[in-house]
Amino acid sequence: MGFRMAGLVAFAMVCSLAGAQTEGIGDRTFPTLGNTGYRATHYDLKLNFKPETNLLRADVTMTAVAGVALSKFSVDFSGFTISSVRLNGVTVPYERTSAKLRIKPKAPLVKGTRFTLETVYSGNPKQAQSAALPPGFTSGWITYPGGAIAACEPELAHTWFPCNDHPLNKATFEIEITTPRPYVAVANGIGSSVKPGTMRFVLDKPSMTCMATVAIGGFGILKQVGPKGLPITNYVPKGQESRFKQPLEVDPKFIQYLSERIGPYPFETYGTVMLPEDVGKVNQLMASSAIETTTIPLFGSMGAANPGTLCHELSHQWIGDCVSVTNWGNDIWWVEGFAQYAEWLHVEMTQGRQAYADTVRAAFEPYSGPGRWLKPGHLSAQEMFGAQSYIGGALILHALRRDLGDAKFFEAIKAFVAKNRYGNGSVRDWIEVSSKVSGRDMKPFFAAWLNGSTAPKFAR
Ligand SMILES: [Zn+2]
Repeated sequence: MGFRMAGLVAFAMVCSLAGAQTEGIGDRTFPTLGNTGYRATHYDLKLNFKPETNLLRADVTMTAVAGVALSKFSVDFSGFTISSVRLNGVTVPYERTSAKLRIKPKAPLVKGTRFTLETVYSGNPKQAQSAALPPGFTSGWITYPGGAIAACEPELAHTWFPCNDHPLNKATFEIEITTPRPYVAVANGIGSSVKPGTMRFVLDKPSMTCMATVAIGGFGILKQVGPKGLPITNYVPKGQESRFKQPLEVDPKFIQYLSERIGPYPFETYGTVMLPEDVGKVNQLMASSAIETTTIPLFGSMGAANPGTLCHELSHQWIGDCVSVTNWGNDIWWVEGFAQYAEWLHVEMTQGRQAYADTVRAAFEPYSGPGRWLKPGHLSAQEMFGAQSYIGGALILHALRRDLGDAKFFEAIKAFVAKNRYGNGSVRDWIEVSSKVSGRDMKPFFAAWLNGSTAPKFAR
């Protein structure tokens, strides 16, 4: 990570802007992402994609509110050829760097003003190297023989659309996709057909930019109904419906289980996408992974859809997508930790308490000795998606459950989700909610588990 971060820090220093606005929204792990000068409230993406030529033509309108007087401002954006940028419908001058599109309004935008920024662009989308993935592993917009997907966590949304690319600025989305027939397109939220070859998806709850997705391919559609009539739409490679129906089925009982314990399911729809095997020809990582997105996670066809990962991605709808990180490296442990823990909860729900205890013991064993603990409190980009956050975070939640007891443990999580619903959570919130339900100061508990080199003993 050294080379990349050194470059990014230098870049951040040369592009600070006048006034109270800064480029870089304040993330310790990704210091150049985002802009503090405005708040995007909605993205309207009109996409026309031709898989055969990998040509994306896009017309993206960001609606935002100026947080300070803006004589100029920037969005995160890289690649493509821009044909026009319009502010409130009027063409404006702009300049570009490798990852920022900087706009100069003809007259400064007054603090509190609502504005629209429309960017029209086209070109061949490319996979990108995330700082959170090992060198050589790419994600972002991935065109494969037969379609395309977008998988952008944590910092690659701006490689296919201009945005304030950080979880601190969540927004609603409308994504309209036109593709040649017979391709099927899916994105976040509730879909409807606009006309043959064009689908529109509406997500009317705020989402992180990096969880915006599209999946384009030859898909068949399988429907399920969840608790309280929740519509669940699963997309599988056309002609392989019977092969993937069962492996992709979401367990409605587990949706009910989480809804009762940590709060109502937070979105209007849910579903999964089984990626065609051809994704593996251009990206082995995606072909073998399960990928979190808001309302419609993607599963690689090389065994990624199993009961554990289905529960993992489902649970992210509450913790990860509805409640998101404030700072990637400080908060990823409770996002991935909770999703890993949800897998263990599903083991407990379906196989009983002993199976749960055995699972936790096996996970803890390698990290339980002196100096061997995972210390997930302050992770670098490269550490974000490893055992430190997944296993370390899940074991902290197990320790919290042992400390508080079942009822208060779930009461604390429910309070954490309710407090930060559609917003951002932090370690401070975990300390606050667990201190409140326990009647004790839980700061020492979290300090020991997050930052100590040796795992504390489990309570009781
Ligand atoms: Zn996850």
